[in-house]
Amino acid sequence: RPNSTSFIGLGRMGSEMAYNLFSKQFAQKPEARFVVCDAVPESALSFCRNFSAAFPGANIEIVATPEEAALASETIVSMLPSSAQVQTVYGGGIIPTLRGLPPGLAKQTVCIDSTTLDVTVSRQVALEVIETGASMVDAPVSGGVTGAKAGTLSFLVGGTETSFQAVHPILSMMGQRIVHCGPAGSGLGAKICNNLILGVQQIVVAEAMILGQKLGLDPAVLSSVIGSSTGNCWSVSVNNPVPSALPDKSPPCERDYEGGFASVLMEKDMGLATDIARQTGTEIPLGDAARRLYATMIAEQPDLGRKDFSSVYRTPAVGLLA
Ligand code: NAD
Repeated sequence: RPNSTSFIGLGRMGSEMAYNLFSKQFAQKPEARFVVCDAVPESALSFCRNFSAAFPGANIEIVATPEEAALASETIVSMLPSSAQVQTVYGGGIIPTLRGLPPGLAKQTVCIDSTTLDVTVSRQVALEVIETGASMVDAPVSGGVTGAKAGTLSFLVGGTETSFQAVHPILSMMGQRIVHCGPAGSGLGAKICNNLILGVQQIVVAEAMILGQKLGLDPAVLSSVIGSSTGNCWSVSVNNPVPSALPDKSPPCERDYEGGFASVLMEKDMGLATDIARQTGTEIPLGDAARRLYATMIAEQPDLGRKDFSSVYRTPAVGLLA
């Protein structure tokens, strides 16, 4: 196990994060051992091929199950779609399964789950992992695929101070800003609250941009005015939904909303916010409305589901401009 790291979930985010992590660990310790695991064997295989081509001599292998990954490693990082997959992989949660991680965990194992999932499920999984004597943090990320590739992600970490200190050097190999938000589940809490704001914000920016155009305003003029006024926010000044509204051509709207953060993921995160709001007796009327709007958009225009969530500007439910 020593000097051995497993990465479980090599999707759009995980493959970039694993690449940064393994390449930096390899530079520090060429004898380090790397283990990858994905439910889609081709994802693990293509990651291994790319990594081995870039770092010949690196000791990397594919395993078929999370248990094998657990038996092989002292550090386990997971980046999975959501709650159901984290429950399956870690074998804890509401429906315990024998095919997850805990049976193979050793006391010195450190588990880092970077998935954005339900806070309650994450806390249950962490409890079960900690009962085995191993340690676990939730460490969801902000920064998207671009940040994952550049190694500039922000990690929002929930767990004990000791666990935070233990995972800090590992997370620093994949990100720039590593914040200890509090005990288990706090990283996810911070992530979900942030995305609740973002999901609502992107809709209201689309509304304002459409209303402004109906009032005869040029979107570039309107964006510039808002960008230096009290309505300014990331959805106006970086992720503006209107093509040519910003001088720089980087927002996804300039590429027919390709890339960026998929609407289906935003809808998932709004669902996490509304679910945890219900569980904690918190009224979030704007969050509820935003969740419904993203869900309707995805159901009625499935092509927008995989596009950036700023494509909410293109749904007739907002402004009837499109
Ligand atoms: P993805 O669907 O591209 O990747 C998930 C990977 O997990 C896939 O390769 C899938 O095959 C694998 N997987 C699923 N079940 C598995 C199992 N039981 N065992 C092993 N592997 C399994 O998703 P993504 O875009 O990489 O996002 C991952 C997480 O990061 C999500 O929770 C998402 O909300 C969050 N996130 C994504 C972004 C983004 O821009 N994509 C930004 C911030 C946070």
